[in-house]
Amino acid sequence: FLPHLVASMEEVEQTYIMIKPDGVQRGLVGEIISRFEKKGFKLTGLKLFQCPKELAEEHYKDLQSKPFFPKLIDYITSGPVVCMGWEGVGVVASARKLIGATNPLNAEPGTIRGDFAVQTGRNVVHGSDSPDNGKREIVWSSAFELLLDMNEAYIRIFTES
Ligand code: GDP
Ligand code: MG
Repeated sequence: FLPHLVASMEEVEQTYIMIKPDGVQRGLVGEIISRFEKKGFKLTGLKLFQCPKELAEEHYKDLQSKPFFPKLIDYITSGPVVCMGWEGVGVVASARKLIGATNPLNAEPGTIRGDFAVQTGRNVVHGSDSPDNGKREIVWSSAFELLLDMNEAYIRIFTES
């Protein structure tokens, strides 16, 4: 049962999922990881990380001109986040479905935001919005490299016969 290894390599996508400081502080880390695991995606990297201001600004640079930008940067840097790489066919769009709408009041029950949040400014989790952004955002911290090496070992264990 390793559906991600059945697909051809071109179809496999990477996404960057980040449990925001409120998700970590509220003890939702296990619950959130569990939802991605049970769906059938593969965890390729994981790190508990205190995000520096400059990196938060880079991560959210497309929102620079929004009035809530300073509050967003304060929020993301207010405590440790859990940075994760997830891999699989269609993982980018599927992760966005599992996460739910940006405003948790509009997020369907059964989604992470729909089940665990009420405020846009405290919406628990981030997911990349395109395959290109998935690749870009995964380069968030150099410590990810170690975990990606481990991932290569994992692939070798399960694919060599
Ligand atoms: P996402 O892709 O669903 O996370 O949403 P966006 O990329 O549009 O926004 C990034 C993050 O900025 C959201 O997840 C929220 O945490 C925050 N955000 C977006 N819109 C608002 C807003 O109107 N007010 C506040 N306080 N935060 C917002
Ligand atoms: Mg976004």
